[in-house]
Amino acid sequence: MYPPEFEYFAPNSIEDAVEALSNEDAKVLAGGQSLLPLLKSRFATFGKLVDISRITGLDYVKIEEESIRIGPMATIASLESNGDIQRLQPLISEAASQIADPLVRNMGTIGGNVSHSDPANDMPPVMLALNAKFTAISKSGERSIDAEKFFVDSFQTALEHGEILKEIEVPVRRAGQGYSYMKLKKGSADFSVAAVACALDVSGKTIKRARIALASVSSKAEIANDACRHIEGKEFSESLAEEAGAIAAKNADPRSDSYGSEEYKRRALGMLVKDSIIKAYIRGSGSI
Ligand SMILES: Cc1cc2nc3c(=O)[nH]c(=O)nc-3n(C[C@H](O)[C@H](O)[C@H](O)COP(=O)(O)OP(=O)(O)OC[C@H]3O[C@@H](n4cnc5c(N)ncnc54)[C@H](O)[C@@H]3O)c2cc1C
Repeated sequence: MYPPEFEYFAPNSIEDAVEALSNEDAKVLAGGQSLLPLLKSRFATFGKLVDISRITGLDYVKIEEESIRIGPMATIASLESNGDIQRLQPLISEAASQIADPLVRNMGTIGGNVSHSDPANDMPPVMLALNAKFTAISKSGERSIDAEKFFVDSFQTALEHGEILKEIEVPVRRAGQGYSYMKLKKGSADFSVAAVACALDVSGKTIKRARIALASVSSKAEIANDACRHIEGKEFSESLAEEAGAIAAKNADPRSDSYGSEEYKRRALGMLVKDSIIKAYIRGSGSI
């Protein structure tokens, strides 16, 4: 199906983009991998699309001493293959490599992936696990939003009308920080049945700090708080990881759909959380 008619505007600067977005019926267009299917299936209509892909310099990855700054137009493929990201925050590249297929990864951007806030998208749980900070810009200036406040609900973020996501900041991986992104999917290029992003700070055999975030098992990506608390400050063991998996599965709120029944998703999530903790612990403790 063709999308309904819309006005198309491709500004050369972010200032012109935010100006154009003050139009009530305007929407940002980035790589178009989520927005265009939505328009074509007529689930949404917008009078004006503001294409930010012509603005130069929004696809950067800047490495600083303790953090990495990522421009919203950095594609999923570029984050998958970027050597600095692989070395300094490999949770991002591990998740990026599991998104869709090369075509979608070449067009889709990190800004679009998080701003869409599809509960099945893979970057939101990664951003939650890493405690990312988002910078939004509008005509009235800039503001910073913590990842935990950014994802509000299904397809809803804390971005207000007229705001553009301008930058994402994530910390550089700390010494002793283990990570894992695990995703169960039906087809090789599919969205997840359930997915888990895990970042653990490990000291000796103890898990000092845990950030475990989930996708596809609730109305939005979210941190599995009780599972994190259950393992923090404790010595790692396989049974501890299994208990955390059971807690996350019990607390989750998956819905039965074409990807599987509620019960199947809970069981899958429990196993993914357990396996993610084990993998992240092994990586953090340097045992491999
Ligand atoms: C066949 C297929 C399979 C897919 N499989 C997966 C998958 O397995 N995992 C996964 O995570 N995703 C998957 N996707 C979705 C795709 O990865 C994301 O749609 C993509 O990353 C979104 O980025 P985009 O640049 O294309 O955003 P767009 O489609 O251009 O925009 C998406 C939304 O974000 C808003 N937006 C975009 N950029 C900004 C910005 N800078 N500031 C404010 N708002 C903004 C737009 O207004 C729109 O609402 C799949 C998509 C397709 C078509």
